[in-house]
Amino acid sequence: MNDFFAPKPKENEAWDAAIIGSGPAGLTAAIYLTRGAASTVLFAGDQWGGQLMLTTQVDNYPGFPEGILGPDLMDKMRSQAARFGTEIIEQNATSLEKKDKIFIIKAGEKSFSSKSVIVTTGAKTRWLGIPGEDRLRGKGVSSCAPCDAPFFKDKKVAVIGGGDSAMEEALVLTKYASKVFIIHRRNEFRASQAMQEKVFSNKKINVIWNSEVIEFLGEDKLREAKIKNNETKKIEQMGIEGAFVAIGHDPASEIFKGILELDEKGYVKKFEKDGFKTATSQKGIFVAGDVHDYHYRQAVTAAGFGCMAAMDTLNYLDKDTPSW
Ligand code: NAP
Repeated sequence: MNDFFAPKPKENEAWDAAIIGSGPAGLTAAIYLTRGAASTVLFAGDQWGGQLMLTTQVDNYPGFPEGILGPDLMDKMRSQAARFGTEIIEQNATSLEKKDKIFIIKAGEKSFSSKSVIVTTGAKTRWLGIPGEDRLRGKGVSSCAPCDAPFFKDKKVAVIGGGDSAMEEALVLTKYASKVFIIHRRNEFRASQAMQEKVFSNKKINVIWNSEVIEFLGEDKLREAKIKNNETKKIEQMGIEGAFVAIGHDPASEIFKGILELDEKGYVKKFEKDGFKTATSQKGIFVAGDVHDYHYRQAVTAAGFGCMAAMDTLNYLDKDTPSW
């Protein structure tokens, strides 16, 4: 089978599209762009692949009935993007600016020019940073109930946090676990009233107020959490087999400050403009994945948004390039 290869720009010509970020959103965008005959450069960064590189078994990505390891899934997506001619740069993009109608991206010592950009830099899960957390991640400590809840059937689990994510994680877990504790550092939640009501009316959920987890314990699997009461300073150990950390995410949007509109938490704001559903505040820059989506945060939704952003970009290039 002869594969189609997207063109590369000639010397001193701009790329059609530059993708910043190499998780499911970025790699899916690359597959669609190159198959749409757009010359495409993708900045993978020095730690490519995004959050799935830190995951073990992925059981909810369609097409893999037996499940697949997160890094293996990303390897497959990357090979697929490379197969159609995506130029992959292993360095981080460190700046993005607009000059006339062309975008200039710096990575390492080099500058790249592109007619359009898709931002897919993702978001990082905030972790507690306590002893045992790193070691037991994927062995009871998780940050994604929709991904991992089925592993905790009839087990006792805890969710840490007091925002909407924590409420959502706890509610998902009640479908499997025998008991769900929400451990929150204050005596009230910041989650929406509606979510709080759902949590308070669920008999499987118990809230432990004014408390922080200070250590996860267990050799090869999580067995206990050490919990400190912030008022009494008393420390207790609680037997749990799952702990879901839901204390927020940090979008990787630092380099877009000043060029794109961000919300108060740093997420890239998405607009519906000129018929494009993945537009940003800057013409020619589109966005996909967790760097704008704090709601779904799934590999499959990120991939879907990546496809949308690529189709918008192809349309944008068709419409705008001739007049430049
Ligand atoms: P969030 O609203 O920022 O809440 C984070 C929670 O974690 C807070 O309760 C915070 O405690 C706690 N926390 C932060 N650092 C901590 C630490 N080091 N130790 C212990 N606890 C810590 O984050 P989120 O829940 O991920 O939500 C992010 C955004 O997405 C929000 O705007 C939310 O409304 C939205 N969202 C919406 C939905 C929905 O509508 N269904 C679902 C998910 C998320 P404090 O309260 O004490 O600060």
